[in-house]
Amino acid sequence: MNKDQTKKRIAIFGSTGSIGTQALDVIAAHPDKFSAEVLTAQSNDELLIRQALQFQPNIVVIGDEKKYQQVREALASTDIKVFAGARALDEVAAMDCYDLMLAAIVGYAGLKPTLKAIDAGKAIALANKETLVVAGDIIMQKAVENRVPVIPVDSEHSAIFQCLVGETRNRIEKVILTASGGPFIGRKPNYLVNVKREHALQHPNWSMGAKITIDSATLMNKGLEMIEAKWLFNLRPEQIQVVIHPQSIIHSMVQFEDGSIKAQMGLPDMKLPIQYAMAFPKRIPSDFPRYDFKKVSTLTFEEPDTRTFRNLALAQEALEKGGNLPCVMNAANEIAVFAFLRNRINFLDMTDVIEKTMQKIPFIEKPSLEEYFESDGEARNFAADIIKL
Ligand code: NAD
Ligand code: MG
Repeated sequence: MNKDQTKKRIAIFGSTGSIGTQALDVIAAHPDKFSAEVLTAQSNDELLIRQALQFQPNIVVIGDEKKYQQVREALASTDIKVFAGARALDEVAAMDCYDLMLAAIVGYAGLKPTLKAIDAGKAIALANKETLVVAGDIIMQKAVENRVPVIPVDSEHSAIFQCLVGETRNRIEKVILTASGGPFIGRKPNYLVNVKREHALQHPNWSMGAKITIDSATLMNKGLEMIEAKWLFNLRPEQIQVVIHPQSIIHSMVQFEDGSIKAQMGLPDMKLPIQYAMAFPKRIPSDFPRYDFKKVSTLTFEEPDTRTFRNLALAQEALEKGGNLPCVMNAANEIAVFAFLRNRINFLDMTDVIEKTMQKIPFIEKPSLEEYFESDGEARNFAADIIKL
């Protein structure tokens, strides 16, 4: 049911998160262009209810089935359909009532609904990088088969995507992914061993969900993004370079065969790549704060310290070896971050958990989707055993 054919109908999977709430801000600012048709949340029923009352979607899904009654009762006087549970996410992803899925669930949980949406021929605005880290070959192949555009939301990949507009016939020499360096830039292991979760959750430039904020502090986020870039832009590992750029003004760059480098710039604000992905191929107006050269006049760049931030070296290895190794690394990382956030292990232990898991789980060169699911499960169990979760 399209309430208004001129609007793009958006399904926000993960509407209560950092990306999800910012996407709703974009929709609220452009009610003539977008409507929120599907909203989903894992456990934050209160926010989901408020969002539903404001945006009047067709459907809401609450992941946690124990919260179903509360949500249903709160929305009883509306036409909004309420579903619950992980299976419902997959079913709703395949429904007719929307045009574009904003994949903004965090972690591995985002993979299956995104696959369902691609199978159903929906356009994807992809924030959930873990989906491509786990099964990038299968996702991109299915997207091609179903003629589904996968438009990146991650700011670095959005930057590269924007640099590539008008360059369809021109080969990429390399992409340069910029990284802020996170809150512990320049720090050494003797400092990192003692950092507390509260400290690691303070990102200097971006306000994001807890998992990606920890990934940014360990540089795993940039490792995941290298693998994400490989699949989105069909790159070889040696074509992907990481540069630390603490000001986060250049969001990433593409170098072409003539040596020319294109960069996409702006203040760090995820609303911009979210809006770009939702409106693509158009650019639509925004009132986001503008970058002023006079205020941030020095842009600096340096090499990442992969001896200290070993997660980036592990991700490089996973990128190069491929197969199920990125999937295994991702699973171990999710367990390690979860344990760190609960003060069960220290900051450096996270890397040890990931490394041991990558060494332990049998390598599969060309996994099927089932084998990716199995590798994820085995890696999670092994990592949890190490930590004694
Ligand atoms: P978040 O933790 O703020 O929000 C996650 C959302 O997913 C919430 O709506 C939550 O209810 C839902 N969710 C969590 N676990 C779920 C589960 N098991 N099943 C179903 N739904 C579940 O996360 P975020 O920071 O918004 O990040 C979302 C994704 O976007 C991540 O993959 C992240 O890497 C990526 N991303 C985020 C940013 C950012 O600025 N926040 C930037 C680039 C990429
Ligand atoms: Mg990013």
